[in-house]
Amino acid sequence: MMAAYRGAGGKAPELLVHDEEHGSELIAVMARFGRGLPANVIPIGLHAVTEIGHDTILSALLFGFQRINVLASPDKMAELGALNTQCDLARAVLQGLGYTGDRVAVIGEADPDAVEEALHEVRTFDEITGRAFAPEGGKRDVARLAFSALHEMAPAPVDVIELPQGAPYGRVDINADGCTLCLACVGACPAAALNADDDKPRLSFTEAACVQCGLCVATCPEKVITLEPRYNFAGGLLPETVKEEEPFECIRCSKPFGTKSTIETIVKKLEGKHSMFQGTAQVDLIKMCDNCRVFAMSEVQDDPMKLGERPKMRTTEDYIMEAEAEKAAAKDKGEA
Ligand code: SF4
Ligand code: SF4
Repeated sequence: MMAAYRGAGGKAPELLVHDEEHGSELIAVMARFGRGLPANVIPIGLHAVTEIGHDTILSALLFGFQRINVLASPDKMAELGALNTQCDLARAVLQGLGYTGDRVAVIGEADPDAVEEALHEVRTFDEITGRAFAPEGGKRDVARLAFSALHEMAPAPVDVIELPQGAPYGRVDINADGCTLCLACVGACPAAALNADDDKPRLSFTEAACVQCGLCVATCPEKVITLEPRYNFAGGLLPETVKEEEPFECIRCSKPFGTKSTIETIVKKLEGKHSMFQGTAQVDLIKMCDNCRVFAMSEVQDDPMKLGERPKMRTTEDYIMEAEAEKAAAKDKGEA
């Protein structure tokens, strides 16, 4: 569409995305009784305009549209929450990069005159020079391609832009001092943005993978994680170490397990404060690996779980000897 429009000498194109049923009717009424669509507005009908995301909006701008108008039925205004969020995200990216004017609009009107007025309004924009690009991959990949290309041609190509709360891009700010490297957040992260190391206690974070779902925030027992929605044009593709520590060595067999800070925190919280950790022997159990802890517990004399002496196993021979002894005793008694 864009190639045909530009080829015919068209300038400052705008896209009109509309609900097929609602929009087609309105456009027909405008054409018949009013001024019709402006010459620079190219309409495209969709089954549901709520499907439009920031990836589509920014891709269309990158192709050379100067503004994206979304025409929605007023009957469906209650369903437009997600669409408005996507539009706000696209606006935040554009404004962060210095693009002027409101490039995204949602028109929820049933009156053809009102729609006509909104579309015919004279707007002046610094032109976004369009370029062809291959929108490959999923929505996030397409959005990233569009972000990068818009950044390259931006009036203010800053490295980092702040995004609204709920945006699916950003970093997590982890207070490393309070982190005990329990790695609960790694297990909770659905996007593999938080990772652990197999060799030593280490927590790393990859900003590009983070979708700002907040599961790590809800999972962290120390409450040291906060979300920071933003888009980082300057990096974030590689994992960065958030915290690393030496492992704690079992005081009995020296096998590394857990981390120093985790074990020390647990000891601090339980030593002398919990009825089961009053003595040194009990506290030492915390400082042992799982195997040594089992051995040590079986050796503790006052272990409440400890069983008494096992009864000696009786065999058939025992029963026979017992019966014979009884018989002999009875015989002796009779003789006496
Ligand atoms: S916000 Fe979600 S995606 Fe980002 S690090 Fe936390 S759990 Fe992972
Ligand atoms: S859940 Fe919290 S304390 Fe545990 S490793 Fe993650 S940031 Fe650190």
